[in-house]
Amino acid sequence: MALDIILLGPPGAGKGTQATRLEAERGMVQLSTGDMLRAAVKAGSPVGLQAKAVMEAGELVSDEIVSSLIGERLDELGVDTPVIFDGYPRTAAQADALDALLKARGRHLDHVIELEVDEEALVTRITGRFTCANCGEGYHDQFKLPLVPGTCDRCGHHEFKRRPDDNAETVRTRMAEYRAKTAPILPIYEARGIVTRIDGMADMDSVHDAIEAVLAPA
Ligand code: ADP
Repeated sequence: MALDIILLGPPGAGKGTQATRLEAERGMVQLSTGDMLRAAVKAGSPVGLQAKAVMEAGELVSDEIVSSLIGERLDELGVDTPVIFDGYPRTAAQADALDALLKARGRHLDHVIELEVDEEALVTRITGRFTCANCGEGYHDQFKLPLVPGTCDRCGHHEFKRRPDDNAETVRTRMAEYRAKTAPILPIYEARGIVTRIDGMADMDSVHDAIEAVLAPA
C-alpha cells in the first residue's frame, strides 16, 4: 500500500518546500489545496470565483469545495502512488472527509508530520517570499535573493510574483485560522499514534532529514 502522509503546520512553516523535495526524491505526489485553489482562481472557474475573496482575506474556503478537489485528484492517481497532503485537512470536518476519501480508495494515512514554528518568525518568512513567475523557484527578500539581481537562478526568467495573501494583515488572519480550526485536529491523529512533531525553525536540510527519519526509520 502506498505511503500517505499529511504535512501539518501554520502558514509559512515550510510544508510546500519539504513536499517539493519529497516529490523529487521519493516520487511522492503533493496534493496542495492552496495550489489547487490558486489554479482555480487563475482559471476563473466557478470554484475559483467562489474562493478568491475568501483566500485574499486569509479565511478558509468551504470544506465541501476543498474535499471535492482532493477527491478528484486522488481519483487521477494510482493507488500505489504515495501522497503528501499539504494544507489539507484544515478543519475537523475535512479530517473526517479525508478518512472517508482514503477508505473508499483502499488507502490509509501512515504519518502526520507537524512542523512546529515560531509565529513571529513566520510573518517575516511569509511577507518576504516571492517566486519566479516562470518556474516557481522560491526566493526571499532577506534570506534568498537571486544571485544575479532580477534574474531567476534556475531558469533565467526576469519576472517574479508574490501571493496576494502574503501581506502582514492577511498572514495574521491565516495564523488565527490555523490556531482556531487546524491545530485542534491534531488530537484526532494523536489518538491513532501517527503524529510526529518536527522543529520547523531548523534549516531546510535538517527538517528534511527529520522527515526522512520518520518515513524510513533506520
Ligand atoms: P498557507 O499554508 O501558506 O496559508 P495555502 O497555499 O495552503 O497557504 O492556502 C492558501 C489559502 O487557500 C488559505 O488561506 C485558504 O483561504 C485556502 N485554503 C487552502 N487549503 C484550504 C483548506 N484545506 N480548507 C480551506 N481553505 C483552504
